[in-house]
Amino acid sequence: MTTLDDYARRKVRALDDVSLLRRLRTIDTEDAHHVRGSAAINFCSNDYLGLASDRRLATVAADAARTHGAGAGASRLVTGNHSLYDILERKIAALKGCEAALVFGSGYLANVGTIPALVGAGDLVLADTLSHACMMSGARLSGARVVLFRHNDVTHLSELLSEYRAGARHCLVLTEGVFSMDGDVAPLPSILAAARAHDAWVMTDDAHGLGVLGRGRGSAVHWGVTPDVQMGTLSKAVGSYGGYVAASRAVVDLLVNRARSLIYATGLPPTVIAASIAGIDIIAGDAALCALPLARARLFATELGLPEPSSPIVPLILGSSEAALAASQALEARGFLVTAIRPPTVPDGSARLRVTFTAAHREADVVRLAEAMRGLLPEAGRR
Ligand SMILES: *Cc1c(COP(=O)(O)O)cnc(C)c1O
Repeated sequence: MTTLDDYARRKVRALDDVSLLRRLRTIDTEDAHHVRGSAAINFCSNDYLGLASDRRLATVAADAARTHGAGAGASRLVTGNHSLYDILERKIAALKGCEAALVFGSGYLANVGTIPALVGAGDLVLADTLSHACMMSGARLSGARVVLFRHNDVTHLSELLSEYRAGARHCLVLTEGVFSMDGDVAPLPSILAAARAHDAWVMTDDAHGLGVLGRGRGSAVHWGVTPDVQMGTLSKAVGSYGGYVAASRAVVDLLVNRARSLIYATGLPPTVIAASIAGIDIIAGDAALCALPLARARLFATELGLPEPSSPIVPLILGSSEAALAASQALEARGFLVTAIRPPTVPDGSARLRVTFTAAHREADVVRLAEAMRGLLPEAGRR
């Protein structure tokens, strides 16, 4: 007989043997670029605009707690649909230039709820091979046939559409707007053109585009296109928590009736919605702030002679998990927090340092990080 504890211990030991064990590390955020208990500057946060520790968001959240209490108490379809939701959804729709928006409990919940609400058995999902884990989960959960196209390869996408589209009732193409672990952007105009030529819909995950690209409005505005569904998160540049989908009114109405992660989950606390509203207002009103993360990434790339980044995410691919862990530890000893990203978050053999830049970094911090990297990783290359 194997007890569950024996089984769990054996699995954990096997992960540790190949440098793939993960442990939760306690972090208290002190300000936008320091974590409490560490003098190191944080270069791995997704808090692109420093809003997660912004006083304005904290203040409206505290006010909302005093006025409305700490919890929603029920699903949005029961009694959990606080009036703040309506304000937030109107603001997201306006920022994205869409008819409507729908807020979910998190970005993860938005993807696993939305995709199965739009496609199912008999349908086809074509997804970029580097799409985020929660898009993949949503695709698998939908029951549709799932086929992956090579990363950012529209020729491959077109081939797959020619091969598989006719056999399916509906087809949904999935991609990230800005790829979370690689920092490159999807060629949305050509993806949309390929999809339209085959009567397919397009959904983007813009978790890393909002607040950063297209004057803060995200990757679709950056390209001047309108995917059928634009999903995103309120937990990165917006500095709060939650996920959203921006689309037509018809699509949002369908999701309210079909997305299980919306219907069968409790609404967000009013505090969180209030903070999201404040974050969206800041993004909508401060294009100069939204331009800073990418400017910092470009400075870093110039310092190291790397190709010009198209987002604030700059990966330094090291290959093995051991090398990525060792580099991360050496950087921390020099005062920089850059966590190692290992499989299965990234493909085997592509463990990396993923450096992210935010509006809270000073230019001098970026130059010092580049110097430390140069000393540490003379041979570091990008994929
Ligand atoms: C972070 C992330 C999500 C999940 O969003 P949460 O709000 O954190 O659940 C989804 N997609 C991508 C690409 C992400 O980076």
